[in-house]
Amino acid sequence: MATNAMTSHCLKAFSVIILVIQLLHLMVVSSSMINSSNSFRSLEGLSKGKAHPAIPKLKRYLNKFGYLNYVNDSSLNGDHFDGDLESAVKRFQRFFHLEVTGIVDWRTRKLLDTPRCGVLDLTSPKYSPQFEFYPGNARWPMDKNELEYSIVNNGKNYGLNFDDVRAAVRSAFNEWSANSKFTFNERSSPEFVTTDIYISFQTGDHGDGYPFDGNGGILAHAAAPVGGNMHIDGDESWSTSDTITPDKVDLMSVTLHEIGHLLGLLHSEDTSAVMYPYFDYGAIHRHLEDDDKKGIQALYSA
Ligand SMILES: [Zn+2]
Ligand SMILES: [Zn+2]
Repeated sequence: MATNAMTSHCLKAFSVIILVIQLLHLMVVSSSMINSSNSFRSLEGLSKGKAHPAIPKLKRYLNKFGYLNYVNDSSLNGDHFDGDLESAVKRFQRFFHLEVTGIVDWRTRKLLDTPRCGVLDLTSPKYSPQFEFYPGNARWPMDKNELEYSIVNNGKNYGLNFDDVRAAVRSAFNEWSANSKFTFNERSSPEFVTTDIYISFQTGDHGDGYPFDGNGGILAHAAAPVGGNMHIDGDESWSTSDTITPDKVDLMSVTLHEIGHLLGLLHSEDTSAVMYPYFDYGAIHRHLEDDDKKGIQALYSA
């Protein structure tokens, strides 16, 4: 009798523990769902022939970065995984050296969910192994060796000290001038001075046709020569510290990448290059790599 009572007591305690574990699990799942409302997780495992309500999101993403060239909005908004989308997924996998399956497999989905630069990867179907230039090799005039830049201080601090922002940007320009023919000089009154390069923090739809997307996703974008505009997403959690926490994005690393675009480099498939388009939270990459140096030297050598 006593043993039976003990057993039933233990069973009750055990089922309470199970219930608590299940509740905790539910809480973890729902909080990760809240954090990843922009996630591609629901598309994992999808392949040609299937349909899913999140497929238009994948189509828009691949279209935005040059992997899919739909001409009309109706195909872009369709929820069917068609042959064009499969080719686009394969092109994306080839560019990033993933297994070319045409399926939104785990590795592909992980990369889709990594923060990145907003500039496109492919401007033509041509497959290149390393650094890439803009169409027509857009670049600054060969006799122009000095570029002036300004950082627009719009009074919002985005959690940063403006002098720290200036220092991070200056360090990024110094890294490029050490590896190219350019020197860069800051002008501090952008409202009175016309500089070659304008750097500003922007949020959401900011009028250039390439809206930012809040926290996560796109981090920044910059124009090809001789546009000169660099926009940094003010909704990211930026850091200028040498010791970064895993939830922040290093401002100098991203600025270093975006200056590459301002000078005429497109994205590199070399995962070690600064011009590689994805950049993780908590990472620091403040020095140009061989591929970046070869790229900038090739662009301005002839
Ligand atoms: Zn980029
Ligand atoms: Zn912009």
